[in-house]
Amino acid sequence: MASVLLQHVSKQFGSSNYAVHDVNLDIEDKEFLVLLGPSGCGKTTTLRMVAGLEEVSEGRIVIGGQDVTNVPPKDRDIAMVFQNYALYPHMTVYENMSFGLKLRKMPKTEIDKRVKEAAEILGLSPYLARRPKELSGGQRQRVALGRAIVREPKAFLMDEPLSNLDAKLRTQTRVELKRLHQRLGATIIYVTHDQTEAMTMGTRIVVMRDGVVQQVDTPDGIYHRPANQFVGTFVGTPAMNLLSAELSRQGTEFIAHLGDQTLSLPTQLTGPLESLIEPQVTLGVRPEDVHLVRADASDSLKAVVRLVEAMGHEQLVYLSLGSRDIVARTDNDWTGKSGDAVGITFDMARLHLFDPVSEESL
Ligand code: ADP
Ligand code: MG
Repeated sequence: MASVLLQHVSKQFGSSNYAVHDVNLDIEDKEFLVLLGPSGCGKTTTLRMVAGLEEVSEGRIVIGGQDVTNVPPKDRDIAMVFQNYALYPHMTVYENMSFGLKLRKMPKTEIDKRVKEAAEILGLSPYLARRPKELSGGQRQRVALGRAIVREPKAFLMDEPLSNLDAKLRTQTRVELKRLHQRLGATIIYVTHDQTEAMTMGTRIVVMRDGVVQQVDTPDGIYHRPANQFVGTFVGTPAMNLLSAELSRQGTEFIAHLGDQTLSLPTQLTGPLESLIEPQVTLGVRPEDVHLVRADASDSLKAVVRLVEAMGHEQLVYLSLGSRDIVARTDNDWTGKSGDAVGITFDMARLHLFDPVSEESL
């Protein structure tokens, strides 16, 4: 396995805008790195450039210390796993897994060792003599993975490999892939638009937007310290509440005005507010950090319940705060209904402040 380095990598198709622009990534050996972002943000193009299936327009790619920018795909020693797992129907599991190695004229004993090891890791040992049609969908997928594993590539590249599976199999395979990563100690670059996959599988996540990297961080960092509004709202369901507020000062304190209600901001957050040109800020509050209290509770903002969504283990409460909409996540003990007047407070330690112009975190 190996590290993968992208230095100032850009891609332009013809004379159109950059599909990928100035991407810098230092992917460590054995890392499970996830590229996350909405459709069209350049994830697949980035992965294809690492694989060598797409030429870079600018920049450099280094795999395992070797500059491979101009090396053809077959000589990069990496395995790309696609959405579609095509197996040879007339071959057994063993034959499917060993086929590529046989083509390379690897000695039979070495092939046998690798196939059996991979089968063991993937839980396929009992099925080596079966044909694909005698396997479940999940098992077939593992065979396809096995085919990549036996090659012992420097890195695995996976482009939305779970997107064709139904919800249950997707969850199952997610867990298996994560376990496989731990067992193999493999370097994996994994592309997805699904934030849950990214948050649960990645050792680090790269959030992309319009071809540009927004943030590279651990799942915890992405969730709790989003670099900008885009990251804050892309990760988390329901999305982080964004509330635009006017600012005023009272001595050293900053007061946020939400319509005719006010909230004094914790001083440990307000340092960067000194440099704002306009006295405005966007508050970011995650639904779980909005607490519902009695309507007459002191220091609470006054809101009205619009809708309650029961989720089984929790409730989502949609509220109006003056002209602003806000959603709170609460446990099942809370009993309230549409039309109720309630008070809300925010977990101030988890409040985010964004510059309303640049949308960057303050
Ligand atoms: P993602 O995988 O994040 O959905 P892609 O990497 O597929 O995004 O696409 C990024 C951008 O590059 C999109 O605007 C897409 O239309 C464009 N693009 C991708 N492949 C090509 C191509 N072969 N020719 C022209 N434009 C392309
Ligand atoms: Mg894609």
